[in-house]
Amino acid sequence: MHKNFKNIGKVVFGRGSFSMLESILEERRNENNRFFLYVVDDFFNGKDLATRLPVKNGDVVRFIDVDPHEPTTEQIDELRDTVLKEHGLPAGVIGIGGGSIMDIAKAVSLMFTNEGSSTLYQGLNLVKKPGIYHLGIPTISGTGAEVSMTAVLTGPEKKLGLKCDWTVFDQVILDAELTVTVPVDKWLYTGMDTYIHCIESEQGTLNNAYSHAYAEQALKLCREIYLGENAGQNPENDDKLMVASMMGGLSLTYSEVGVCHALSYGLSKILGEKHCYANCLAFQHLEDYYGEGVRELKQMLTRHNVTLPTGLAKTWTDEQITAMAHVAYNLPHMWNHAIGPDWKEKVTIKTIEDLYRRM
Ligand code: NAD
Ligand code: ZN
Repeated sequence: MHKNFKNIGKVVFGRGSFSMLESILEERRNENNRFFLYVVDDFFNGKDLATRLPVKNGDVVRFIDVDPHEPTTEQIDELRDTVLKEHGLPAGVIGIGGGSIMDIAKAVSLMFTNEGSSTLYQGLNLVKKPGIYHLGIPTISGTGAEVSMTAVLTGPEKKLGLKCDWTVFDQVILDAELTVTVPVDKWLYTGMDTYIHCIESEQGTLNNAYSHAYAEQALKLCREIYLGENAGQNPENDDKLMVASMMGGLSLTYSEVGVCHALSYGLSKILGEKHCYANCLAFQHLEDYYGEGVRELKQMLTRHNVTLPTGLAKTWTDEQITAMAHVAYNLPHMWNHAIGPDWKEKVTIKTIEDLYRRM
């Protein structure tokens, strides 16, 4: 079977393009109960960007602190229920922030029209009806959540996306000026998510000419941004990273992620580590699978004076390590891609536990 994926409806790219938000929204304002719901990273609360939101009568702005935990099913259900009760059905949702906010905007837009808890829809094509209009504006680059067809949520049982054609944004605005305030460590961890998406997409059975072209270009951009003559955070590189993030996301959509993402999901689900940081923690120990990539990622960290902790496994209990190994093992699509259809003959719970013990 070949992958048949929906792409984003419309894309604006360029510095200052945030100012187009108002005119883009006007065409949609008369839908449903004629107001927009803004979900905005709490980082921007009280900042200049908050005053630039084209908020009109009836619009609802929710600032969300994404740092305590990754988006949860409970959080999405609560947001949907209170907005419906207090304001009715929005004309659309606008998400402004990082991967967490992108996923919150995508998920809640689906849950406005699909009954019951979002836990019912974690998986592929389980969503029954199209959601409402949703528009994404990333403010940190790397996860590719702005382009992907999944909204990753952590529920009581699993960390798994609501994945279907309707998850994809109707519109994104890519304005790298919004990323200027990203601190260097987050710039590196989130950018490394793109880098790892490409390495994993490339090194596996599902890689193909289409996914390869995106990965090749995104890797070239990552190398310029993190290791080139002009490496570092600057306007030119911020533009490039925004494009690399999107291309990395498209590459994995048409291929798959691999061992690092499987391990990372375990770290997030059991220990609550954030996705991009968890990827970096895991990737540095995966020489056996991605030797050249691991060496290059370490060079990037060194160049920007970011050090990752080691010896963490000593602080984990055996039960935690086993629980993480089970989360990772239960992502067969990733192992199938990374190792091959006979992966179960090569990878056991014990193999995965040993990988965690290296961290
Ligand atoms: P995030 O959204 O959690 O944000 C990371 C940090 O950066 C936060 O502290 C945030 O406040 C801060 N931040 C964002 N923009 C900023 C700015 N302009 N200036 C200063 N600080 C800023 O992190 P992320 O790494 O972008 O996303 C991680 C999430 O994305 C996870 O929940 C993960 O599951 C999800 N994800 C989704 C997909 C997908 O395809 N849907 C893919 C990968 C990851
Ligand atoms: Zn990722």
